Amino acid sequence: MTSPSFASVAQSSPEQGSVSPQDAQALHRSLFTLDSHIDIPWPDRDDAFSLTSDRHVDLPKMQRGGMSAGCFVAYIGQGPTTAEGHAQARQQCLDMLDAINRMQGEHNGVTARVCSTVAEIDAARAAGAIAVIPAVENGYGMGEDLAMLERFRAKGARYVTLTHNGHNVLADAAIHRPSLGDEPQRHGGLSALGRDAVAEMNRLGLLVDVSHAAKSTMLAAVQVSATPVVATHSCVRSLCDHPRNLDDEQLDALRASGGVIQITAMPAFLKPKPEEGKRTAGVADFVDHIDYVVRRIGVEHVGISSDFDGGGALADWQDATQGVNLTAELMRRGYDRSEIAAFWGGNFLRLLDRAEQVARG
Ligand SMILES: [Zn+2]
Repeated sequence: MTSPSFASVAQSSPEQGSVSPQDAQALHRSLFTLDSHIDIPWPDRDDAFSLTSDRHVDLPKMQRGGMSAGCFVAYIGQGPTTAEGHAQARQQCLDMLDAINRMQGEHNGVTARVCSTVAEIDAARAAGAIAVIPAVENGYGMGEDLAMLERFRAKGARYVTLTHNGHNVLADAAIHRPSLGDEPQRHGGLSALGRDAVAEMNRLGLLVDVSHAAKSTMLAAVQVSATPVVATHSCVRSLCDHPRNLDDEQLDALRASGGVIQITAMPAFLKPKPEEGKRTAGVADFVDHIDYVVRRIGVEHVGISSDFDGGGALADWQDATQGVNLTAELMRRGYDRSEIAAFWGGNFLRLLDRAEQVARG
């Protein structure tokens, strides 16, 4: 696909290394910067407004790092798909969403707002407040009860990741869990309940997140969903053959449906393990994945996530204060302001807006 961005990528090499730290900071701070996948510590420590030593993301770090918004997830680890397992998962999910909803107000010189619409995100930005966007990681959190999705949405959630590692009653995961009794496949993609859940998510304005989902699940979700799907924290399989990554057929399906892949800061998804020594990865490796997606399906289909506090961290993007290093690398590759703005949040906001339109009917 030929696009202006393709040209800018191709022409970038002579300019490499010519970006000053001041220029990178100036551009970074002028942008709307959204990280689409951040975990919260659990049990909750109610320390989001404190500058902590053990969280990669807290609100003071986001402010220092010029971050405008973050999707904070209620992460539910996969457990047994029994009535008891589902009851526990539902309760933990609601409790975690409540904890995320406490991340608002003004404390220690930082202002944050929980935002559940694009209009609220825009208003927060205009007011100089960090936008906290709740989300749910793992459809296990609804158990078998579709009505839970409305409760998630009422607590501000904007996406539900269909699975984590291990199949649930909605869908097959990319990584199955023999310790939970998983065979490689359980439903062959989305179950009947999973299809109903996608329809209900469309009705409510919840994005369908296909990170962690099996390829069969992802391709089925693209077919079934009235709203373009998003992979909130995944990388490119052609560059690193990890089951959590999306292959070219999946990228093409994303393009056809208008969806977005948010590249993530997981070294194991970014670079194959070397035969000797330890794997290290940095923002240059991260931007290699952005470049690949841009070349294959276009600027409008790729964004940025950290998976901070869920295992993500790079040598030169270790916490929410260091996002400017990513902006600098994107500038070095020759991307212009509008392209970098699309990666840092514009594309993700477009999907949220689309989901709101579909929900309004
Ligand atoms: Zn995850």
